[in-house]
Amino acid sequence: METEIKEFRCSVCGIKSQHTIVTKIQAKGAPDMDLRPPEPHRSTMEYWVMECPECGYCNGSIETPLDTDKSYLDGREYKTLGGLETGNPLVSKFVRKALVCLKNRDYAEAIQSYLYGAWVCDDAEDTETAKECRTEALSIMDNSTVIDDDNFYLLRADLLRRNGQFEKVISDYGERFFKVPLMLLASQYQVKLAGKKDDSVHKMSEIPSVKYE
Ligand SMILES: [Zn+2]
Repeated sequence: METEIKEFRCSVCGIKSQHTIVTKIQAKGAPDMDLRPPEPHRSTMEYWVMECPECGYCNGSIETPLDTDKSYLDGREYKTLGGLETGNPLVSKFVRKALVCLKNRDYAEAIQSYLYGAWVCDDAEDTETAKECRTEALSIMDNSTVIDDDNFYLLRADLLRRNGQFEKVISDYGERFFKVPLMLLASQYQVKLAGKKDDSVHKMSEIPSVKYE
C-alpha cells in the first residue's frame, strides 16, 4: 500500500489542512458478506474519512460541499452524533460523515458510512455500538429508495443477520429472487446462516460453488 499526504481546502470554512490519502492498494481474496474488503484494504479505514481540524466537517473529502446551512456542524445533532455514544474517534468521524451525507441526501453514502462505523466497532469488539451503527444503516434503507437497488437489498440481509434479526432475514429473503446468480447464492446463504441463528461475520468465499482468487 502507498499513501501520500495532500493538502485539502475545507468547503465549509475554507481553511486548508493536510490529510493522508491512499494512492495505491492491492487487495486479494474474498470480501465479507457485507463486502468488507480483504487485507490490506481492510485495515485502511482511517483514510476513508477526513475531518477538518478547524470546523469539524467530516466527509470522504472535505472539499465535497455541504448541502445545508453551515451552522449544522455546530448543532446538537452533529455534536452528539445523532445520539450514538462512542469514545472511538474513527467511529465518530464515520457517524458525522453519515449525518452530513443524510443532509446532502446521499443516502447510499450515509448507509456505507454507518457500515464503516460498524466495521471499526467490530474490530474493537464493541458489539453494542456496532449494532447501533447497523440499526441506523437499516433505518436509512427502509426510509429511502436506495432499497430498490438489489445491492443494498442484499446488504440489508447481512445487517439484519449481524443484528440478530434472523426471522426477518428468513421471511424477507427465503423466497426472494435475484437476477445476478452470485447475489441469489449470497441471499440463500444468508437465509441458511439465519436459520442457524448465526450472527457472526462470514466471507463470500464460504458460499457453496463460489470461488475467489
Ligand atoms: Zn472546515
